[in-house]
Amino acid sequence: MAEFDLIARIAAQSGRRADVALGIGDDGAVLDVPAGQQLVAVCDTLNVGVHFAADADAADIGWKALAVNLSDLAAMGATPAWALMSLSLPQADADFVAGLMQGFGQLAAASGIALVGGDTTRGPLAVGITALGFVPVGRALTRSGAQVGDAVFVSGTLGDAAAALRLGSGDTAPAQLQRMQQRLHRPVPRTALGLALCGQAHAVIDVSDGLLADLGHVAHASGVGIVLDAAALPASEALRSVADPAFRLRCQASGGDDYELAFTLPESRIDAVRTALAGSDVTLTRIGRVVENGGVRLHDADGGVIELGGAGWQHFVEPTA
Ligand code: ADP
Ligand code: MG
Repeated sequence: MAEFDLIARIAAQSGRRADVALGIGDDGAVLDVPAGQQLVAVCDTLNVGVHFAADADAADIGWKALAVNLSDLAAMGATPAWALMSLSLPQADADFVAGLMQGFGQLAAASGIALVGGDTTRGPLAVGITALGFVPVGRALTRSGAQVGDAVFVSGTLGDAAAALRLGSGDTAPAQLQRMQQRLHRPVPRTALGLALCGQAHAVIDVSDGLLADLGHVAHASGVGIVLDAAALPASEALRSVADPAFRLRCQASGGDDYELAFTLPESRIDAVRTALAGSDVTLTRIGRVVENGGVRLHDADGGVIELGGAGWQHFVEPTA
């Protein structure tokens, strides 16, 4: 199948929005940015052998490639609008592209995203998405606003995806393993939470590389320290079904691929956030507090510091054992 046939198939499932003046088919897309809004732009790529296995399901790859970008938009407090896709394929595989677009399209439709352009080339399998969204001028959420005395919260539960990567059948019940695999392959971006945090949170980040590493970015950007209570880190029923507590904590604190939002705010504001989220099933858990300095520290119940070693996932750095 030729490149143009593949692009035609992609275009057929691109989704529609009234603010797309010109979508797929020309040299560039022409898009109407609403008055009073700023554009928020994010870009994240999934590579075969790094972010997914060679035999991964095409629909899962399509979903996740968009989800990780929507997670970044959520962390900025942005409303998703448009996406572009840079697609590298080893061969012109129509079935793969159909699967990819099915997974991508499912999340795009649920999020109101239109695919407005991209690029299709031959090479090792990789899906790079650029996503664009809006925030009212001056209202974007950032990593840099955490203040001493803020409470630190995280959405949902932590560690499922990391556990799914490392566990096999026999480590827990098949149904529990399946739930954790679902979190790994089909993360759900916290878009509504990001919007609810606008005007409330001082600092926000999405947890993609591991809680400690990502909160480390908040601490650094904000010029503060963060103290976390290990016992407070939320775990799913599925993760709690895994026997080894040290393994569970490692997955929660430094596993990565959670795509939850971690944020800081004066604790008195959390009720307003919960009210704004009413009707959603996203849980919010207080996991720590912002202090003057000292980076990010994980405390046990007695206030002792827990050393996990290796603070999170980094490309080009060999993981320590
Ligand atoms: P050009 O050669 O001008 O860069 P292309 O032939 O690469 O144009 O692409 C034709 C049209 O198809 C463009 O509008 C481009 O944005 C779109 N397109 C190409 N690949 C993709 C893709 N993987 N996803 C979405 N749009 C794509
Ligand atoms: Mg061109």
